Amino acid sequence: MTDNPYDIVIIGSGPGGYVAAIRAAQLGFTVACIEKEETFGGTCLNVGCIPSKALLQSSEQYAFMSEEGKEHGIECKELRVNFKQMMHRKEGVVDSLVKGVAGLLKRNKVETFHGTAQFASPNVVEVTNGNKKIEVHGKNFVLATGSESIELPFLPFDEKVVLSSTGALSLSKVPKKMVVVGAGVIGVELASVYNRLGTEVTIVEMLDHVCPGMDGTISRNLHHILTKQGLTFHLSVQVTDAKIAKNKVTLDVKTGKEQISLTADVVMVAIGRKPYTEGVGLERIGIEKTPKGFIPVDQSFRTSQPHIYAIGDIVEGPMLAHRASEEGIAVVELIAGLTPHINYMAIPNVIYTHPEVAAVGITQEEGKGLGLQLKVGTFSFKGNPRARCVGYTEGMVKVIGEASSGKLLGMHILGPHASEMIGEGVLALEKRATLEELANASHAHPTLCEAIKEAALNALGRAIHM
Ligand SMILES: Cc1cc2nc3c(=O)[nH]c(=O)nc-3n(C[C@H](O)[C@H](O)[C@H](O)COP(=O)(O)OP(=O)(O)OC[C@H]3O[C@@H](n4cnc5c(N)ncnc54)[C@H](O)[C@@H]3O)c2cc1C
Repeated sequence: MTDNPYDIVIIGSGPGGYVAAIRAAQLGFTVACIEKEETFGGTCLNVGCIPSKALLQSSEQYAFMSEEGKEHGIECKELRVNFKQMMHRKEGVVDSLVKGVAGLLKRNKVETFHGTAQFASPNVVEVTNGNKKIEVHGKNFVLATGSESIELPFLPFDEKVVLSSTGALSLSKVPKKMVVVGAGVIGVELASVYNRLGTEVTIVEMLDHVCPGMDGTISRNLHHILTKQGLTFHLSVQVTDAKIAKNKVTLDVKTGKEQISLTADVVMVAIGRKPYTEGVGLERIGIEKTPKGFIPVDQSFRTSQPHIYAIGDIVEGPMLAHRASEEGIAVVELIAGLTPHINYMAIPNVIYTHPEVAAVGITQEEGKGLGLQLKVGTFSFKGNPRARCVGYTEGMVKVIGEASSGKLLGMHILGPHASEMIGEGVLALEKRATLEELANASHAHPTLCEAIKEAALNALGRAIHM
């Protein structure tokens, strides 16, 4: 029992919670961080961003060696996948990072508790770990309990045949056949991993395009590229039923007026994530949820209880690690009386397929929908010398500006290392830069980023290399 109240008690140690805890400690608060799992870091470090990117990296290197290596003059006679080692490496990457978070929390004198936190009253949470229970008292609380995968009602996860992303990140062998339900970010990323390792992967998607919310041109191009890589897509279809027999799963899929069935060794259901607030005891302290289960907050992240705040995936908005972290910093700065500001328009989105997709700001479709007069420029990586050296020229940069002011409104990149390049777009949006400023800035040669300069020049009618 800890009677002396902490200034701030944080529930959840994902990228929202642990970053909030460290910033709060920097600001001089006494801080407690409670985590129900054995390791810190939340979904992102344990079963999300990090393990998925580790497997994407390993499988991409294998695909490079088996498909493009020869062209570079690199030959290997007996190339094969050691899946056990690939998984072992992934676990090592996760392990080093979660230990790093534990070290950071300790160094910043954040008091950590392992157990499930449940409100007993508005200023007290009970932390239960096995048959041990303690009370933690706080003046302020930050809820950062994250999200979980959504199940199909007729196909509950067993993590053997019916997988969530968590199960798909921990398979013991490469499946022969896999169906992925949902062509969103997590669906296409993990489908790419197994496709590269030799699995026959079919993706079924309710919408008529991949990766909802993505710029239309980029989405069509990505669909085309992923199909060329061997993924089979069924778009505008609906999974209506499923049967599991003899360790195989068969899905009934409605395609227009017809019904087809797809059989596979495993199905990964990646139809989205929902906020996770189970067992937190919100009902005990009168905090209500939206119909979709999110916690409503005001502009200062305050719930209906003014000393209880909520951030990250449990609050409606893009379910992204860096958004959770920005909110983690902002919320404790607000508690400290500072005036932080998050520019939600400048939060980037990345898909780590090959090539990668990265975007920030509005899409062309959104701009038109808003009735804005736009100035749009594109540039293909075919005209970029560095992309030629890298050996990958598919993809493009698209910049979208406001016609009257020339201000950048959005940037969309499909190409190698797009995740790194989008930083330029984020900064340009943050600083309200114009297409002219983007075009005038000197870009090192040869770099992939020169395609951004050329796209901006193209929007202004003066691209050099096209
Ligand atoms: C496969 C996959 C890949 C992803 N890839 C990316 C990516 O590349 N980039 C990106 O930006 N985002 C990615 N995401 C999303 C990202 O992981 C989340 O947006 C992010 O983790 C949300 O952070 P959070 O702090 O809100 O919650 P979480 O990271 O979910 O952390 C919440 C924590 O709270 C704990 N908790 C819950 N209830 C309690 C309780 N009652 N008591 C104590 N502790 C509790 C949980 O155990 C968990 O550790 C990915 C997600 C998945 C599933």
